[in-house]
Amino acid sequence: MLDRAAELFESTGTLGNAQCVRFLCTDVTDLKPYQGPFDAAVFNDTLATEHDSAVAIRAATLLCRPGSTVVVSQRLDDPGTALPSMDVAEYIADLPLEAAAVAVDGKTMDGEGGVAAAKTASGARTEDCCGGSCWTFEVPPLYAMRNKVEMRAPVVSGFGRGSRQMGVPTANMDPAVLAAELSGMRRGVYFGFARLPDDTDQSAWEKCVINVGQRPTFADGDGVTIEVHVLKDFTRDFYGETMECVALGYLRPEMKFAGLSQLVGRIMTDIGLARNALDAECFTRAVVDGQNV
Ligand code: ADP
Ligand code: MG
Repeated sequence: MLDRAAELFESTGTLGNAQCVRFLCTDVTDLKPYQGPFDAAVFNDTLATEHDSAVAIRAATLLCRPGSTVVVSQRLDDPGTALPSMDVAEYIADLPLEAAAVAVDGKTMDGEGGVAAAKTASGARTEDCCGGSCWTFEVPPLYAMRNKVEMRAPVVSGFGRGSRQMGVPTANMDPAVLAAELSGMRRGVYFGFARLPDDTDQSAWEKCVINVGQRPTFADGDGVTIEVHVLKDFTRDFYGETMECVALGYLRPEMKFAGLSQLVGRIMTDIGLARNALDAECFTRAVVDGQNV
């Protein structure tokens, strides 16, 4: 199939045979970030039989640029064969994906129109005539969330995980006063703006990256941590002070890394993605005018 596809292009080298087009026969989990980002990912009757379906769709999603499309097309009732078990809703629950607008019978169905379709797989699903299903998702442009989350809480001590030693101090917001805000949030990495409203020198909104983490339950909060790395050099600590933070975009789920250097590398990627996205005027307006993006 790759050879046939390559025939549509003039030369058939492995690199750059047409501008931005390359043909690789590989597993999606073996692709490296520098081989992306991609404009679309399509699982054509393959997701259910992946070694680990959740890992595969996560890998593909994280290689896709904002505004790109992720499609899962799967035959689910092939007579005579065992039904593959597949829970797309569960796989995508913590991924930066939204139900996309899909065309059905010439009409455009807005994924948002369905009941609670946002973020749910059901809003993205269409059936085809031969027992197959197709889910169409979008990585939101600029990773923007449909609904921003506003948080206000005192900065508490962290857990000595050494954020500062990694060059990324994280102000831990008190989870005990943010239970309501946290209930609707996925565990993962967000970005937005933060400020210290009570400090007249630091009361301007600054870009930030926010990690909402789950850790084994201890006495405090709900076993959830909210850590805010502000992209600004404060030159001092501000434990005990009130911090305000507005989460506007969602980048990725909580992930396990093979080692510290991989973790720090991904944090630097998160910071770069956040810094770029937050230059967009819609985010500044969202925080200044108090509207959604
Ligand atoms: P802890 O484990 O106590 O959270 P960290 O190493 O994560 O310690 O450092 C976080 C503290 O560093 C914050 O509570 C805050 O007082 C201070 N700090 C200074 N600059 C920043 C910044 N740019 N972003 C977040 N925290 C900062
Ligand atoms: Mg911290």
